[in-house]
Amino acid sequence: MPEAEEPQLYAPRQSIFPRSVKGRFRRLKWGLLALAYGVYFLLPWLRWHRESGPDQAVLFDLVGRKFYLFDLVVYPQDIFWLAGLLMIFAYLLFFVTGIAGRVFCGYFCFQTLWTDVFIFMERLIQGERPARIRLSKQPWNLAKIVKVGLTHLLWLLVAFATGLTFVLYWGNAPDLVVEFFTGKAPFAAYATAAFLTATTYVMAGIAREQVCTYMCPYARFQSAMFDRDTLIVSYDEARGEGKKGRAKLGRDLKTEEQREAAGVGDCIDCGYCVQVCPTGIDIRNGLQIQCISCALCVDACDTIMDSLGWERGLVAYSSQREEEGGEKARLLRPKVLGYAAVLVVAVSLLAWSVGHQAPFDLTVSQVRQPIFTLLSDGRIENAYEVKVNNKTNHSLGLAFSLEGLPGGELDMGRFRHVVLRSGQRLRLSARIKARPKVFDGKTHPVTIVATPDPGAKLPPLKHETVFYVPAS
Ligand code: SF4
Ligand code: SF4
Repeated sequence: MPEAEEPQLYAPRQSIFPRSVKGRFRRLKWGLLALAYGVYFLLPWLRWHRESGPDQAVLFDLVGRKFYLFDLVVYPQDIFWLAGLLMIFAYLLFFVTGIAGRVFCGYFCFQTLWTDVFIFMERLIQGERPARIRLSKQPWNLAKIVKVGLTHLLWLLVAFATGLTFVLYWGNAPDLVVEFFTGKAPFAAYATAAFLTATTYVMAGIAREQVCTYMCPYARFQSAMFDRDTLIVSYDEARGEGKKGRAKLGRDLKTEEQREAAGVGDCIDCGYCVQVCPTGIDIRNGLQIQCISCALCVDACDTIMDSLGWERGLVAYSSQREEEGGEKARLLRPKVLGYAAVLVVAVSLLAWSVGHQAPFDLTVSQVRQPIFTLLSDGRIENAYEVKVNNKTNHSLGLAFSLEGLPGGELDMGRFRHVVLRSGQRLRLSARIKARPKVFDGKTHPVTIVATPDPGAKLPPLKHETVFYVPAS
């Protein structure tokens, strides 16, 4: 008996050669792409006046442990803003996905933005879809080597520009770019640029739609956020197929009336919607995991419908509810409103927190070895470490004092008053001394106060800690 054949779990990749298309969604995608590229590539070069600090508008200064974002300076202790920002991005994604499905992938995702440009360059060098298919099938010759080589060279140039630009966010861009090309930049700059060049080239040039289909986790869980009202790109099967299915434009199937009489639908089976799809799927087979909701197939079908003088919308953004009953999708529904409410609260809290950033920090921690010292004059002494950080754009004088300890003395030597440069942080030793009988053998809360010089017109900052007293 012949052995049963092993089922194959591996399907080789089918090359995809997306055709160009014109239309409102393609224009929207080009507009967003120009905006995203403009921001990404130009931002490190934007200069910004500050009283002290670098004149780069956006700079992530790892050595100085400060992130400059226009007028905002973010310190390590503000890292919870990052958590807030991530939460806002997550809920924004849930919100947008709940309303319009996977549009983030189709319009804003880096993978899509870079793949779009790489496909554009491929088309520029190798020609439209039929020419690219022919080129891929023909044997290697000089013309093919030149065209394919030039395409990969352009891809590598854009990938390198992407990697280098990323590096420029982490140093003063004009200096760093000179250092980079004269071999004087830090090793991390070369390693990062090389890594990003390689990943951009592979992801946007070689892997392309496979990143969206197999590698992206969002592709896997986004359907959990879909419901009957979520907008998805879909094919109007009833209109497209009629009673007898789709049919090409034949001799007696040229007008809608002729087609209706013959029982066939409005889909002329031209395949344009499939040819423009960057993930190579046929939207007429229903929603598929590969669909990134880019709506290029909508533009393609609209183009065909316009050329025939028929109504647009055979392929369109629609919802399951519309498809089932013809009712319009409900945008405002509890789930979407819930996401929106969380978003509004999170954005408001973050904005409030950023707007109320303290001009300077004060932290006090007790030195517990030893936990207290008995002085020769009978007093108890506790030691503390005081940290201050000037977040303002100018020098700041701070005077330290003690509150809440009757008869207590704050000893900071000659550092009872300090002047910090903009961005400077200081770590100081402090000792508090007091007579134990005042406390009846119990530890006592105390407050160290840092008061800015009157000219700074800033309120004092207080930090509460404890004063340990040995049990009597
Ligand atoms: S099916 Fe249409 S919307 Fe989905 S990825 Fe392809 S072209 Fe874009
Ligand atoms: S572009 Fe429109 S008419 Fe052409 S195959 Fe696709 S759905 Fe049918």
